Amino acid sequence: MHASLRGRLKKDDRTLERIVVGDRVRLAFDDADAPTIEALLPRASHLVRAGLRGHKPKLVAANVDGILVVHSLEDPPFRADVVDLFLVLAESCDIAPTLVLNKAELPGASGTAAREAARYRAVGYPVLVTSAHSGEGIADLRRCLSQGIWAVVGPSGVGKSSLLNALDPALTLRTGEVSRRSRGGRHTTVSARLLQLACGGWVVDTPGFSDVALWKMEPAEMSHAFPEFREPSESCRFRGCSHLHEPDCGVREALESGAIDASRFESYRALREAFTTAF
Ligand code: GDP
Ligand code: ZN
Repeated sequence: MHASLRGRLKKDDRTLERIVVGDRVRLAFDDADAPTIEALLPRASHLVRAGLRGHKPKLVAANVDGILVVHSLEDPPFRADVVDLFLVLAESCDIAPTLVLNKAELPGASGTAAREAARYRAVGYPVLVTSAHSGEGIADLRRCLSQGIWAVVGPSGVGKSSLLNALDPALTLRTGEVSRRSRGGRHTTVSARLLQLACGGWVVDTPGFSDVALWKMEPAEMSHAFPEFREPSESCRFRGCSHLHEPDCGVREALESGAIDASRFESYRALREAFTTAF
């Protein structure tokens, strides 16, 4: 169904007032041809990404219930720093992430799968181990996506489109291609689409979402994006502790005792350096 916009809502499309995929609106059927969008209803969540070269954040989709963070176990090899970046992105939008470890059928993948699944489950994240090729984990993925609106993020080549095709062959998404950005040129903007899955849920197809990930965050926000830091940080001596160099830091104590994983702490340190505004 098509609907036209009432004038007031056709604002600058960089503001949060722009209507995006996932938005709920109120329609008026006062005209026989097509309804008019009269109002934008309150949003339960905002999926936001940084603009190109640090330009201001852009709203990609609204009312997203969950984010699938996808990475391959092999080919390309697993990268904890990349996974942590996408998890921080989900946390900073306040949308619950689920980690998907794909290409599980490849040689050498099972050891990595066991180790990484345990590491991220210990943080509290749900983890699915999948193979778009062998079908492993696809039924679990289908169950996970059977309700709500989902965004699928991760670097290119890890199997995001292949997984969606495997769980719903009617989608026929293109796979194994160069990214849409490099095909279309840097400044091409393609708007996101909402795809309905046969299993019941919806997926936001977000062109280029994985290209530009984070934007500058407040230091405290970065610390909060690591859920396993929250409780230990309550025993830091200083308020606003960076967990990097202050004495009596609860987070570093948890790191030393092994309660916080060393690789996760390293991601925190690196992301904090790269993406926060000040120390
Ligand atoms: P995307 O860029 O994340 O959407 O990744 P694609 O779905 O386009 O997949 C990238 C490449 O990885 C393609 O050549 C796929 O055939 C391959 N691929 C996807 N899933 C799997 C898998 O589970 N196992 C293996 N071996 N290859 C996969
Ligand atoms: Zn601290």
